[in-house]
Amino acid sequence: MTALTYDRTHIWHPYASLKDPPPVRLASAAEGVEIVLADGRRLIDAVSSWWCVAHGHNHPAIVEAVRRQSEKLCHVMFGGFTHAPAVELAEKLIAFVPAGLDRVFFADSGSIAVEVAAKMAVQAQTAIGHPERNRFLALKGGYHGDTSLCMALSDPDGMHTLFKGIMTRHFFAEKPACAFGTSWQPADADSLARMLDAHRGEIAAVICEPVFQAANAMNLYHPEYLRVMRRLCDETGTLLIFDEIAAGFYRTGPRWARDHAGVTPDIMTVGKALTGGHLTLAATLTSARVAETISNGTPSAFMHGPTYMANPLACAAACASLDLFASSDYTANVKRIESAFARRLMPLKALPNVVDVRILGAVAVVEVRRLPSQADISDVIDTHGVWLRPFCTFIYAMPPLISDERTIDRIAFAIMDLASRPPDTTPADSDFHE
Ligand SMILES: *Cc1c(COP(=O)(O)O)cnc(C)c1O
Repeated sequence: MTALTYDRTHIWHPYASLKDPPPVRLASAAEGVEIVLADGRRLIDAVSSWWCVAHGHNHPAIVEAVRRQSEKLCHVMFGGFTHAPAVELAEKLIAFVPAGLDRVFFADSGSIAVEVAAKMAVQAQTAIGHPERNRFLALKGGYHGDTSLCMALSDPDGMHTLFKGIMTRHFFAEKPACAFGTSWQPADADSLARMLDAHRGEIAAVICEPVFQAANAMNLYHPEYLRVMRRLCDETGTLLIFDEIAAGFYRTGPRWARDHAGVTPDIMTVGKALTGGHLTLAATLTSARVAETISNGTPSAFMHGPTYMANPLACAAACASLDLFASSDYTANVKRIESAFARRLMPLKALPNVVDVRILGAVAVVEVRRLPSQADISDVIDTHGVWLRPFCTFIYAMPPLISDERTIDRIAFAIMDLASRPPDTTPADSDFHE
């Protein structure tokens, strides 16, 4: 039985059925911006393997850091032990994030980092005598992960409605509609202000993806929204959580998406590109003030501790990745990626099936009325040698930050071809989301 045949019968893939599953390709290696298939073909990874491969695949410095660490200490429980990679990573990460966020919790995935952020907010509110402030205010169109608390904080009309029965009900403000790069419309934050005012006594924290709502909406919104959000949180004693897991690490241009607004949250989550896409690791950062508040509560301990917390191999990968972020001028390269995408893709607005084209930093989104068929998508991938994974009504690229102009051109040509194909006419399937 070939690997692909066995895979089809026994292994679930993300958001995929085991009955007549969508095709998967057999990857055998990867290097730089390319994924190498078992038959020797190469595909440009225009998705950065779900947005994490920032420095390119199998970066020699990260591979070497993991190899060296693996010879000394692959894992040790973080309860009762610490180790050099964790301490070194904490120092590097704290120096890299906005000033004032200098307490860190290492989690094993982005979803867990968000769960940890939410628990920090609830423990801090409880510690100051507000255990009843145990709900969150999130944004429609947002996405914060797939575990049950994260689902409950993500777009309430999104892909998780099936699980309504097990999800706690939180509060949602309207999806920010004032687009990045347009003039600020103060009314855009009215719904946020109203919700926070009406339910302030129940809300521990506001959570959002700053500027770039990724997996659920591919929405780029006005940074002024975040300044209003910060002010409203301060006025109501509400904590502010920024989920930078998708948008952080130069994806939208500056180092953090919050840099567009110069606003610092009380709690921030990072993940995805933290290890440059080499091993799974995420982190939740907060201020000394929030950490002290939690420590003064009962219990004083922060109540979370995953088995693989601060795994040394993952920490070593993240240290090497942060060194690369510090030594590479990604801001300049992301600017080049942004203008190359803009030049090629903005004209697609004229196509009949195209609703909108949005570009910011190394994010390019072509929103269509309806995606082309799966057969057309596969054909474009094979013809152009460019890996795309459109979902919902979005054809998008979030390529590695090292991509040169030739790579961006090839990705843009593939997107142009795909956006020009006729929309699918067969009924939509469950595979509508990432
Ligand atoms: C991907 C993502 C998550 C979840 O991260 P996982 O590592 O997949 O658990 C959370 N928040 C945002 C904004 C994300 O893009």
